[in-house]
Amino acid sequence: MNRPRAWKLAMIAVLLLISAPLGKADGETQPGRDPKQPVDEAYTAKMRKYTTEPFFTSPLVNYLPASKNVPTPEVVLGDVAGAPGILPYAKDVYKYMRMLEKATPCVKVFSIGTTEEGREMIAVAVSSEANLNKLEENRANLAKLADPRTLKMNDAEADKIVAQAVPIYYITGTIHSPETGAPTALMELAYRLAVDDSAYVKEIRDGMITLITPVVEVDGRDRMVDIYKWHLAHPKHFYPPLEYWGKYVAHDNNRDAMGVTLKLTENVLNTYLHWNPQVLHDLHESVPYLYDNTIGDGPYNAWIDPLLADEWQMIGARNVADMTKFGMPGVFAHGDFDTWSPGYLMFIAALHNGISRLYETFGNGGADTLERTLDPEEYARTWYKQNPPLPKVMWSQRDNNNYEETGLLVSLHYFNANKMMFLKNFYLKAKRSLEKPANEGPAAYLLPADEVRPTAQLELLRVLQKQHVEISRTTSAVTVPLPIKKDKNPVKSGEKPAGEKQESKKDAKPEPTTMSFPAGSYVIRMDQPYSRIADALLDHQYWSPEDPQKTPYDDTAWTFGELYGVQVTRVTDTSILKAPMERVTELRVPGGVKGEGTIFAIENHAEPVLASLRYRLKDADMQAAEDAFESGGKKFAAGTIVVKGGDRGQLDAASKELGLNAVALGSAPNVKTHPIRAARILLLHTWLSTQTEGWWRLALDKLKIPYDYTSTQTIAPTPDLREKYDVILFPPVGWNGTLNNIINGLPMNWGNPLPWQNTPETPNLVGKNDATDDVRPGLGWAGVAKLQKFVSDGGVLLTVMDTAQFASGIGVTAGVTTASSEKMKIVGSIVGTRLVDAASPIAYGYNEKVSAYCDNGPIFSLSSIAGSRRRRKLGPEMGARPTGRGTKDDPDFAVGRTGVEAPDEPEKEIWEYPNVTDEQRHNNPRVIPPAMRARVVVRYADSKDLLISGLVEGGGEIAQHPAVVDAPFGKGHVVMFSINPVWRGETQGTYSLVLNTVMNFDSLNAGRKDDEK
Ligand SMILES: [Zn+2]
Repeated sequence: MNRPRAWKLAMIAVLLLISAPLGKADGETQPGRDPKQPVDEAYTAKMRKYTTEPFFTSPLVNYLPASKNVPTPEVVLGDVAGAPGILPYAKDVYKYMRMLEKATPCVKVFSIGTTEEGREMIAVAVSSEANLNKLEENRANLAKLADPRTLKMNDAEADKIVAQAVPIYYITGTIHSPETGAPTALMELAYRLAVDDSAYVKEIRDGMITLITPVVEVDGRDRMVDIYKWHLAHPKHFYPPLEYWGKYVAHDNNRDAMGVTLKLTENVLNTYLHWNPQVLHDLHESVPYLYDNTIGDGPYNAWIDPLLADEWQMIGARNVADMTKFGMPGVFAHGDFDTWSPGYLMFIAALHNGISRLYETFGNGGADTLERTLDPEEYARTWYKQNPPLPKVMWSQRDNNNYEETGLLVSLHYFNANKMMFLKNFYLKAKRSLEKPANEGPAAYLLPADEVRPTAQLELLRVLQKQHVEISRTTSAVTVPLPIKKDKNPVKSGEKPAGEKQESKKDAKPEPTTMSFPAGSYVIRMDQPYSRIADALLDHQYWSPEDPQKTPYDDTAWTFGELYGVQVTRVTDTSILKAPMERVTELRVPGGVKGEGTIFAIENHAEPVLASLRYRLKDADMQAAEDAFESGGKKFAAGTIVVKGGDRGQLDAASKELGLNAVALGSAPNVKTHPIRAARILLLHTWLSTQTEGWWRLALDKLKIPYDYTSTQTIAPTPDLREKYDVILFPPVGWNGTLNNIINGLPMNWGNPLPWQNTPETPNLVGKNDATDDVRPGLGWAGVAKLQKFVSDGGVLLTVMDTAQFASGIGVTAGVTTASSEKMKIVGSIVGTRLVDAASPIAYGYNEKVSAYCDNGPIFSLSSIAGSRRRRKLGPEMGARPTGRGTKDDPDFAVGRTGVEAPDEPEKEIWEYPNVTDEQRHNNPRVIPPAMRARVVVRYADSKDLLISGLVEGGGEIAQHPAVVDAPFGKGHVVMFSINPVWRGETQGTYSLVLNTVMNFDSLNAGRKDDEK
């Protein structure tokens, strides 16, 4: 495929001859081989053959030193690292690393955990024998720098350790499975670091420890290698996209560093916190040819230490400079990646006092050598890209490996040469984290002991605990002063759509100036080494609509208290730190059965574990109270769960484990109830993308809620969906999820079948997920009919964002129309919503105000006329009058005639169905009878209350519009979400909107009151 011309080979040979060590011409150790150490000539020749241009390599990697006893990657790969056609499985990469461990005392391999599918993850330490012999001693030293309290915050003591500690640089590869180059680059890098006797590499080996996790997404790697092998066996065919990476999510596996819900995140996080490396450097491939994107562009994350921003610049700038000197084009460090969200894997380091780094190199999505043509913006010379990539080149995996290894080697070398500074900074960043209360603040975050959602609070605390945040509890009640809030957020002109009424100012109560917390309240102190991650997770975010960065790279908000629906109070007054409290390490919420009797009440505060209980005791008689009631002097709200009969011991055990309280009632409550059920769930996915629905599977699995999982292709052939299922969850497709694509899938009129199946060629594809003989077909028209029949037969179809648009498109949503926004920008933000119909079972347990995750809608509107879109009318709705005489509020007149008052039209809110006028009603079969209209359960807040956290620009487009809608269709319901209630394991506060729908699926009309008109 790739035949370098003879002159190129000759030129490389010349380069090799003159690349003898150059001494310390500019005071620094020069890169280049040690002439006394022999070169592995055969390996080197192949590397050169696979390098497509002489300037796609460097003096650091254009040779491979020979070793008598240490095997090169060729022994496992059958060719050199980066050779065309070769992608190793994770187990082959591990096999090689363990061969290195056997062959040289400079390599040690550690198992760091397993994946969801049981595959091993490893970390490989490479350093001098002397360094590896005192790993534990060194680890203890680094731990002291990581927690300056152990040094009594004494800088002189820290300096002593800095002088003798060996720093660690942690490199992680191929978290993104189609980005395939890192494992071979890291195999070869480990070899070089262990074997190369050049002064340049020897300094790295002797001065520091390089820690390598060659494959982060191990499940996805093995699938990707399967796909690639299938492609090699069928070179003339299209091959399927990588439908699944890990068990749950694909590309989003690199957005989990906040919630830590995936094993890969947890394993890397634990490795990081165990070893205390100073750098965590994650390797990606999507940009030509090497983009050090951590320097990137603004806005930077607001919670990082500015020392880190400086370190990014230092290492990154040097990285670019060194590779530019080597003549390697396309190496740059600025560009459009903003470093705002802390969700990326590398950011584990950023918010734990280390240095986060991320490369985007250029990958071919496999090991083929391909001609690659770039977009003009990719090859344009910009101020930060003075030597840009070429518009069109042959590009090989070897080229990619050369860039990755060269970048890493110059970074390691620079890091090692300045290790005293980086170690001292590591200590200083930890010290400054401890000094946070006295400096920028806050002093602490408080989570009250009397939280109404203790199990959701527990989940949030567990996330903090995974992040190694220290948690304390007060041993007596405390009262803390609160900062006085100034009146802010005036509605800008143009923000508020005409007709949106302001909530009365009378409702605004003066803000309290103190707040009391009972004994047992949780305190997240900010005078701890990892205060930054806690602060970042618990604080609010504000992304200005005026920010020069117009395209946020990811979510703009993540405030965990809001997303978990629990109370979190930011306390700036440092006296809280002197309140009596003790550290807690074991977190639990007490629960169980209390009192004597056979009928029990469990309060419903929209805690997701209520659904776990329902499924755990699936034969128990559980009812939901449709109204509030009183029993034994205690008040219970609507939605309270009443458990009758059944095994008390089982209820006690389950509620203890789940942290729920079941209170015995003297007698059956005098209130209307309906059964809540362990509904039979089908979770429906497309083959367009399994990315976003993966978060839904993860949420259900963690709650131990069983479900069947199948693709849209299986709907049409299922004889009777309603017989098998009560609820079909159709989470967002997220990628290309248009009505057309959901129904028609990928084009079938050309191409070849794209199987996603386990075969001898592809043994790892399916894992624990779904399979098909061809991923191309979609739901199909017969599938549409089956879904409609499922709902009209009494099933519930729950749809979200793009699948809600799909539901509206197939005509099952009772006058609820959907539209994409025009100018609005709500980019992964947290918005305010309001309960509209608290009597709906979907709303059970919620307060009037619910914070929700929103990513630009879609925008739902209501029309009372089937098949038409709501239009605002001139008059009060638009806040306008016709042009004419008088002031804005005066009536117009017609000259020469007595004035006539227009009949008053009843005003309807945006979240209400518009009135049907007499004119519209006249012989109109399309008027939707009130009983057949959808029920708006939740709406978006008014413009001024929409922004809770993140970016809201032009929110008037969606303000007050329905956010969660329950549309009757036949005997069943279509429930539509404009917000995304289940996202990245972070939105536990809105899970119950889904789980309530599931458990009340055959009583969704409870509490329904129909408008007369
Ligand atoms: Zn990536």
